[in-house]
Amino acid sequence: MRLASWIWGGRAQVGTVSVDGRELTPLRVAHPELGALELVQALTAGEALPPPDGARLPLDAVRLCAPLPRPQRNLFCVGRNYRAHAKELATTVFAGTPAADDGWPIVFSKVPQTVIGPHDDVRLPGSRVTEQIDYESELAVIIGKPGRDIPKSRAMDHVLGYTIVNDVTARDVQVRHQQWHLGKSMDTFCPMGPWIVAADELDGRNTRVRGWVTPAGGSTELRQDGHTRDLVFDIPTLIETLSRSLTLVTGDVIATGTPAGVGMGFSPPRWLRHGDVFRIEIDGIGAIENRFVQEG
Ligand code: MG
Repeated sequence: MRLASWIWGGRAQVGTVSVDGRELTPLRVAHPELGALELVQALTAGEALPPPDGARLPLDAVRLCAPLPRPQRNLFCVGRNYRAHAKELATTVFAGTPAADDGWPIVFSKVPQTVIGPHDDVRLPGSRVTEQIDYESELAVIIGKPGRDIPKSRAMDHVLGYTIVNDVTARDVQVRHQQWHLGKSMDTFCPMGPWIVAADELDGRNTRVRGWVTPAGGSTELRQDGHTRDLVFDIPTLIETLSRSLTLVTGDVIATGTPAGVGMGFSPPRWLRHGDVFRIEIDGIGAIENRFVQEG
């Protein structure tokens, strides 16, 4: 099952996506502005989805929004979770930190207001703030059943489904402040979508994650090509680690880290510029594609 959130005729709606990905069925919810959250809650509780709210719509008649346009709290994110990516940033972002798979994952967060839709523009804040905008293609886990102190062996019972996020990062700001939060949390820095694919349809532990840049006026280049079976800390380990004395709640989002090939990993680095487009595709989910546009 796939859960989506969209605007049609000026109205926010949520619902399901047909198997062929071409049609949407709007469902009756109280707060469509929260995206698919009520559907996630219903599925988690083992309830039936709400009844239809109008006729089915062709996908290309709507503007897709992020499936969770305003997560209820910060998104949890994991740093340095693919070995090749750990290596490419070993002397920059990860300088001075313990070895990649030594002990514990790096965990940070992005504020909920960073989230934008799968085809919305990312705004570049300008050189006053940052000159080093980078992309990170990532599989994100959506938590269903809440829990605390969840053991690895039961962690997958808490996974409702998956979506795609671009963990957009201002590298200079990320490094400057010791904590990564500011460099990760600027407005529009979390494109998400195109929908949530439920865990009965996809095993996020075994899927391919790819990212392409199309530079303004240039041709498309594959930059990232990873596989979630190569995660340093796998999804059950991340859930076990995060939930140690912290209650994970329905609708929490966990971005699982990015494969090698980020712009900062090149020599010289290849930052995103005005007019560039970044596309992420995850097998079994679909794709998101966002243009980077200079503010003001
Ligand atoms: Mg990331």
